[in-house]
Formats: sequence, C-alpha cells, structure tokens
Amino acid sequence: MKSEKKKNYAWYALRRTLPVWSFEENLKELAKCLPQYKVDELIVKVDTEEFTHGQPPYDWVKDYQPKLFQIKETMTKLGILFSINPWITVGHCDRGRDARKQLPGLRTVVGHDGVECTCCACPLSTVWREHVEKIWKLYAEAKPHVIWVEDDIRTFNHAPARFGCFCPEHLKKFSERVGQKVGRHELVAAILKPGKPHPWRAIYLDMQAELMIETVAFLARVVHEISPETNLGLM
Ligand SMILES: [Zn+2]
Repeated sequence: MKSEKKKNYAWYALRRTLPVWSFEENLKELAKCLPQYKVDELIVKVDTEEFTHGQPPYDWVKDYQPKLFQIKETMTKLGILFSINPWITVGHCDRGRDARKQLPGLRTVVGHDGVECTCCACPLSTVWREHVEKIWKLYAEAKPHVIWVEDDIRTFNHAPARFGCFCPEHLKKFSERVGQKVGRHELVAAILKPGKPHPWRAIYLDMQAELMIETVAFLARVVHEISPETNLGLM
C-alpha cells in the first residue's frame, strides 16, 4: 500500500460523490488528483444531499453498484483505499419526501410533540431494516475498506421531528421497562419535569442508547455477513 511508504504522515481521506451523469469525468479526475495530493482513502458518498432519493430505491442502488466496483478497481490499482459512505441510514430530514409510498408499512420517527416524519425511519421499523439490509448488502459486495455510517444515525434532528422517537413501538418498549402502559404526553412530561429528575428520564435515555447500539450492531451484522473484512466507521 502506497501510504505505508510515507513516514510521519497524516491520514488523508477525500469524501466525494460521483453522480451518474458525470461519473466517468469525476472518476478520471480522482485518478489524477488523489495520487497527486497523496490521498490515502477515497470515501464514496452515495445518493447524496440534493441528489438524494430519500430512502434509496433498491433498483437505483443495484444500477449504481457496477460503478462502485469500477471505483474500487481504479483505486486498488492506484494503491488508494476505497470506502463507502451511504448518505442515508435512517435519514437526516424529510425534505418533503414520503418514503412510505415506496416502502409500505415503514414506521417513521415520531417527535416528542407528536409530529410524524414521512421519510426518516424509526430504527425499530421492520420494513426499514429489511430495506436497509438489501441495500447495504449491495454496498458490502463492493468490499469497501470502511463503510462509514452517516451521522443521521441519531435520535434527534430529523426535521420535522425535533426529538425522537416516540412512535408506538418505542412507547411499547418503554412501557415494558416500567411495567405500565405509558403514552407520549405522559412520558414527555416526565422527561421534562423541572427539579429533581423523574426516574423515567434516565430509563428512557438508557433505552435510547441501548436501541441505537443494537441498531448499529444490526448494520455491522449485515455488512460482515457479506464482507467480514470491511470495517464500520461513524462519520
Ligand atoms: Zn420509533
């Protein structure tokens, strides 16, 4: 590997999107510039920002997969590591999209105030997990050095939902923990209670932490089933 020849070096990684309509041009440019600037790792962002399809359709990613293989081959020849950063895990924010039409039965994030997302998935959603598993297997088949998990793997800031998730599944899990049926209003009031913290606050936050850890463990399982040598990173 080229980078091993360097001494006292910093690790340089470039995060880049190669849209379908300028793919060849962008790849050519990368093949020229990355060695020139001694970049160690190329992190390919997929279906990004303004180009996003929301929850990416399986067929779209399947069509893009040969391009990932091509990038990997080009980078390997140059001694540069190839990584992938799926721009979406559960989704950053809705941006006016409704993924429930494409994925019937998708459970979306419900905010503390009851506002319901149309595109951002609750990580407990079975439909979301089935979909992500199919998509991430396509990514894993490209054998990336790292799959960088996007920072949308969070409980807050899924506009229009500010703090989540208070969907029926989350409330059910919380109710099981405290041994009584708890509704969203009651739970939010307990969490926000001024003065000495209500015991439910810690129970809810611990539950959130455990569920997010379980979610990333699920992603790691999906990837390692196909590509055990791929690392998972958090963007
Ligand atoms: Zn939920």
